[in-house]
Amino acid sequence: MGSIAVVGAGLSGLRCATLLQASGHDVQVYERSSRLGGRMQTDQKDGFLLDHGFHVMQTGYPASKRTFNFQTLGAQAFEPGAILVEQRKKRAKFWTMADPFRRPLQGVFSGLNRFASPLDLLRVAMMRFAVRRGNVNKTFEGGMDDTRAYLMQRGFSERMIDRFFHPLFSGIFLEDDLRTNERMFRFVFRMMSEGQMVLPEEGVAAAPKQLAQRLGYDRIHLDSTIEIHDATSLSVNGKKMKFDAIVKAYNPHLNQEKRHVWTVHYGAPSSPLKSKHILLNTDVRLKNGLIAHLAVPSDIQPSYAPAGKSLVSVTVVGQRAEALGLQDASAIEGTVRAELSNWFGSQTADWDLLDVQHIRHALPEVGANLELTSTSRNNGFECGDHTVHGSVEGALVSAEQVANAVHEHLERRVHGLD
Ligand SMILES: Cc1cc2nc3c(=O)[nH]c(=O)nc-3n(C[C@H](O)[C@H](O)[C@H](O)COP(=O)(O)OP(=O)(O)OC[C@H]3O[C@@H](n4cnc5c(N)ncnc54)[C@H](O)[C@@H]3O)c2cc1C
Repeated sequence: MGSIAVVGAGLSGLRCATLLQASGHDVQVYERSSRLGGRMQTDQKDGFLLDHGFHVMQTGYPASKRTFNFQTLGAQAFEPGAILVEQRKKRAKFWTMADPFRRPLQGVFSGLNRFASPLDLLRVAMMRFAVRRGNVNKTFEGGMDDTRAYLMQRGFSERMIDRFFHPLFSGIFLEDDLRTNERMFRFVFRMMSEGQMVLPEEGVAAAPKQLAQRLGYDRIHLDSTIEIHDATSLSVNGKKMKFDAIVKAYNPHLNQEKRHVWTVHYGAPSSPLKSKHILLNTDVRLKNGLIAHLAVPSDIQPSYAPAGKSLVSVTVVGQRAEALGLQDASAIEGTVRAELSNWFGSQTADWDLLDVQHIRHALPEVGANLELTSTSRNNGFECGDHTVHGSVEGALVSAEQVANAVHEHLERRVHGLD
């Protein structure tokens, strides 16, 4: 049918390209960096797999279900629920919060009155019921307040918000005030209650690679310097080329996005956790802590660490680090290590630092009062998470919508309707 150039080989560009190719178009993808996958990257170091920032895939996301073969990715899931840690003068205390709906036999919550009242748990059940009603797009209807205001308005205690919702969702939204639009919160909360949080066997970079394989690597041109002239012509490394349509699959303002994150990866002789949960720091807000959450990816996917070792990945929200005046890798790591040794004692002395990553422009801003819906806010042939919402799902949904729009546009042209 038509010839199409897709600029950007992140998730949205690759998904858009595979869909257009499946509709019979001749598609070429141009990527300015030397790796495909955009923000979904995995490094290999000393036998460990280090994702760029702690990154999970959600099997409940509808567009992700349409896009990926989770079985081929060898995806393995975290346990629903979380371990909560509370710092104490001598030794930290740990509580396991099992998901009462999916793991009813594990008991609801051992530290009930420290973090939540019985009323809070009732409210979780009510909120779960409310956000799961109807089509998933309904979660984007209704109020547009921020997440904190939404939780307060639903009657949750400050204790529950600060000690549970804050560490979990600040580590997902990568901001420190729960200022994210309540619609995004409802969507993610619903998805967490419907699906599983998984890691691919070869790291998160395996997700865009699955799409690249489907498309054919010969159609992806890395290290390309692109100049877009108009709707049908661009230059690739100085050479002018003509196409029937051009798709922009990147955020032209990504370097203005302020949500940033530090991830500290350690190689440990064994896992500090006894179950496959994520660990949340209940003190991060109330006691001015630094770490939002910690995960041991190798407990979920043994391929993340060499035999006899564990990978411990610690997430520090950039805004939190700023609030504590921590600006560089060694200051961040020093404070992280002090917090970890309070939690886990002397065993952390044997943990080897593998990397401190700083992802400066991690997610687009989706604050209160943004008309956030499940469809793209962009009318042209531009896709990417910034046009829907900052997530794998946002990137994929935008790609599907733009692929449809491009296909319809070319069909209309073929039939002389444009
Ligand atoms: C640390 C971190 C953790 C995350 N965790 C999760 C998570 O747990 N769950 C979840 O759902 N989402 C998560 N996300 C979000 C998810 O990774 C992104 O929403 C998604 O990868 C965005 O894909 P994209 O294609 O829209 O953009 P990008 O991945 O940014 O891709 C854009 C591509 O275009 C290229 N490009 C840019 N400009 C040009 C140009 N001029 N010419 C050619 N190429 C260009 C870039 O190099 C890049 O490869 C996380 C993101 C980060 C950073």
